Amino acid sequence: MSVIELRELITGSVIGPADPGYDDARHVYNFMIDARPHAIVGCRTANDVRAVVAHAVASGRELAVRGGGHSVPGFGTADDALVVDLSDMTQIVVDPQRRTARVGGGATWGMMNDATMAHGLATTGGIVASTGVGGLTLGGGIGYLTRAHGLSCDNLLSAEVVLADGSIVVATADEHPDLFWALRGGGGNFGVVTEFTFALHPVPENIYGGLIFFEREAAGDLFRAFDRFIGDAPREYGGYPAWHLAPPLPFIPADRVGEPFPVLVSCWAGEHERGAEILQRFRDVGPVMAEHVGPIPYTALNSLFDPLLPRGLQHYWKAAFAGDLTDDVIAAHAEHGRQMPAVNCAVHLYPVNGAAHDVAPDATAWGHRDAKYATVIAGMWPDPADNDKNIRWVKDYYAALAPHSLPGGYVNFASADDQATVRANFGAGYDRLAQIKRRYDPANLFHLNQNIVPA
Ligand SMILES: Cc1cc2nc3c(=O)[nH]c(=O)nc-3n(C[C@H](O)[C@H](O)[C@H](O)COP(=O)(O)OP(=O)(O)OC[C@H]3O[C@@H](n4cnc5c(N)ncnc54)[C@H](O)[C@@H]3O)c2cc1C
Repeated sequence: MSVIELRELITGSVIGPADPGYDDARHVYNFMIDARPHAIVGCRTANDVRAVVAHAVASGRELAVRGGGHSVPGFGTADDALVVDLSDMTQIVVDPQRRTARVGGGATWGMMNDATMAHGLATTGGIVASTGVGGLTLGGGIGYLTRAHGLSCDNLLSAEVVLADGSIVVATADEHPDLFWALRGGGGNFGVVTEFTFALHPVPENIYGGLIFFEREAAGDLFRAFDRFIGDAPREYGGYPAWHLAPPLPFIPADRVGEPFPVLVSCWAGEHERGAEILQRFRDVGPVMAEHVGPIPYTALNSLFDPLLPRGLQHYWKAAFAGDLTDDVIAAHAEHGRQMPAVNCAVHLYPVNGAAHDVAPDATAWGHRDAKYATVIAGMWPDPADNDKNIRWVKDYYAALAPHSLPGGYVNFASADDQATVRANFGAGYDRLAQIKRRYDPANLFHLNQNIVPA
């Protein structure tokens, strides 16, 4: 079937190589990915998605699924593939009484937080506004509310899914419970989710938090103090230690811009005085270079890094899980953090304890309930001429952490890995996931992802 024939089946747009806009539509967020798909199909309804799935099966073309487009390995596109582009399916309906939100499969976290915070409610989501709800939730979902309310997938109540055989089902704890289990951590392996329903929680309009940049010599003390604190910290605290190059912002002294610093990124979703007390304890750990801390809208905190991260950068990331931050781990961070090559790069150590540890290890497909931190080494830079330097930095940093890391890495932060690594990334539930994959997608139609091979 040609692009023109496909157009007759779809209520949304179908963009092929001959169409104006193809060059923009073919690109995902990571511009290192340069694929030329057969067509990018802007689905508007579950029925549109079903038509593209049926066409991919009939034609034997590869099928890529794109929500927010943020997949660093570029899973939302491929050469000659049909792309199910969900970016027109962004409707969000909040039910403030029930504290739930129904969300289209292509919505972003910026849209989601705006819609729910209008009612003083939110669920755990990503820290950058343009990241998709879809990919993030299906791979787990880590953000400022993880310690208070669990992972994004822990807050999923139901999902409407277009399956590989073209049927449309709703998965909940009671209907298709195996599928519902697999969707909470198993990634995009099982079908296209056209609508998610989430549980929401009260969140203050203004949280207390922001950024504290410490002098480099304080790195070890900061990471050590954070590790002691976070083990049993109050759940209102949702921050993380990090490395960043100081960006050119008004609160950074001009002569320090571009230097690498250990940073404490904080979100305190409780009484502001208590939050201020907690952050003061960190200031006592070592000399502070600069800070921007105070009451800040929750929605603003969740777009704090957006100006550093426009679409079109080059991305190469690696992921690791950590337990306690031992001296060896801290030494590796101190050595490699300070070699960060570009102002867009980030190293974040997200705590995944608190409410995320309340969930039984086998209750969802997210297989890392024993980890204390999900670490991301995110190489992000504008100029392809700097690819080698940045990729080398990510790989060296990762290699230094690897001997001290838990098995696997968070699927949503991982690069395109070999199958043994993918298995480790999914963790303890991989074999059960492979069984469920066989039931719902035996021919592995949905394979452009961190792929679970059907058992
Ligand atoms: C700048 C940036 C910030 C990030 N911040 C965070 C963060 O704070 N927390 C965190 O946990 N992760 C974060 N991530 C990682 C993020 O979770 C993954 O990149 C995730 O894949 C993004 O989802 P997406 O929908 O935007 O991506 P896409 O590229 O659109 O999707 C990736 C894959 O997910 C699947 N998928 C997406 N939507 C659907 C759907 N509706 N139905 C079925 N399958 C679907 C498909 O397999 C698709 O190929 C961040 C990534 C970036 C680039």
